[in-house]
Amino acid sequence: MLNLDTLLLVQVCVTLLTTALLVASACYAGSPPELRWWAAGNLVVSAGLAMANLDGLPFIFSAIIGYGVIAFGMGLVLRGLRVHGSATLSWRVVAIVTVLALLIPAYFTLVVPSLRGRLCFSGFYFALLNWLCAVTLARQGGWRGIAICVSGFAVLGLALFMRGAHMLRHADPADVPASLVMGASMLAIPLAQVCIVFGMILMVMWRYAERLRHLSTLDALTGALNRGGLENEGKRVALRAQRGRRSLAVIMIDVDFFKRINDTYGHPVGDEVLRHLARMLKLELRPYDLLARFGGEEFVLALDGLDRQAAIKVAERLRARIELELVEIDALSVRYTASVGVVTSDEHGYDLIRLISAGDAAMYEAKRAGRNRVIAG
Ligand code: GH3
Ligand code: MG
Ligand code: MG
Repeated sequence: MLNLDTLLLVQVCVTLLTTALLVASACYAGSPPELRWWAAGNLVVSAGLAMANLDGLPFIFSAIIGYGVIAFGMGLVLRGLRVHGSATLSWRVVAIVTVLALLIPAYFTLVVPSLRGRLCFSGFYFALLNWLCAVTLARQGGWRGIAICVSGFAVLGLALFMRGAHMLRHADPADVPASLVMGASMLAIPLAQVCIVFGMILMVMWRYAERLRHLSTLDALTGALNRGGLENEGKRVALRAQRGRRSLAVIMIDVDFFKRINDTYGHPVGDEVLRHLARMLKLELRPYDLLARFGGEEFVLALDGLDRQAAIKVAERLRARIELELVEIDALSVRYTASVGVVTSDEHGYDLIRLISAGDAAMYEAKRAGRNRVIAG
């Protein structure tokens, strides 16, 4: 039913193509390190497969060295997967993986010559390595590209395991190629390879997309939303509150005499005060509330479901906490206060721009009234 020569040709072509694809995607300055490990690993695995399968090379290549080279390549791929999860894999582990793949085939070649032993070992051993890759990735969580890659490694492992198990049950390896298991595994392997490489490239792409989204919507100093992020997220929050017929509160917070902090202690201390304020505000918020850095030392909070009285209470609590907190930087301890303006959609409607400008006016009123206070607009 399945023509094994054709399947073998497909497998070789897919291996070469997927390797070329990975190498091409890793070949630019600043490519992520995991992509380089994956490309290098696939190149090495391809070289090992060629050694194990090409006629004309000395016997030792197909019987021993080929396995070691494939295992080394898998070690590099595994290292890349660990790097993707912000960890690493020591070279000692890579060396153990490689040496095992040299020693056991050497035993079945030089000590107890057995082709069956070698084929069983390679099936089980490489199945294990592929499953190790699947588990390493699955533990990193966050699906998308990872799920495709994990499935690819799992299927590749299964195909190799079935080969190993099949060899174990058949005394004469010469019978084996005609079997259905062999055909099925030769069909599954290239499909799994495509899934793995496609998944790897997707994982890297999604990570870039996530990083770009962060860069474009978050303020680099404080991690709060920037103006762009506030515009996008703010619309969503305002719409959600309006649909749910809940009140939306906007609280504007501006650090008092911040220029003086900069002038007295220097800009880095000023920066630390801003980070401290953002951190503290984030801790006080519920997960679906918005925090944005509106200007230099001015922050906006958008709180769903808070009416005027509740919003004033929250604002007062924040103001009091800011007044109490001490920012410790090296040997310095800095205290600061903030003026706060509060408005809600009950008086100003759900247009966030209007709410913010009304909140700003309230906040400036608090400045005029002597600072370190809350004024509701
Ligand atoms: P007020 O009480 O009236 O708000 O006075 P203020 O000094 O806080 O306000 P002013 O607008 O006069 O000064 C704000 C200062 O914030 C000026 C600017 O140099 C500083 N600033 C803006 N962005 C940053 C920043 O990212 N880091 C630091 N360290 N300072 C910043
Ligand atoms: Mg200020
Ligand atoms: Mg200001």
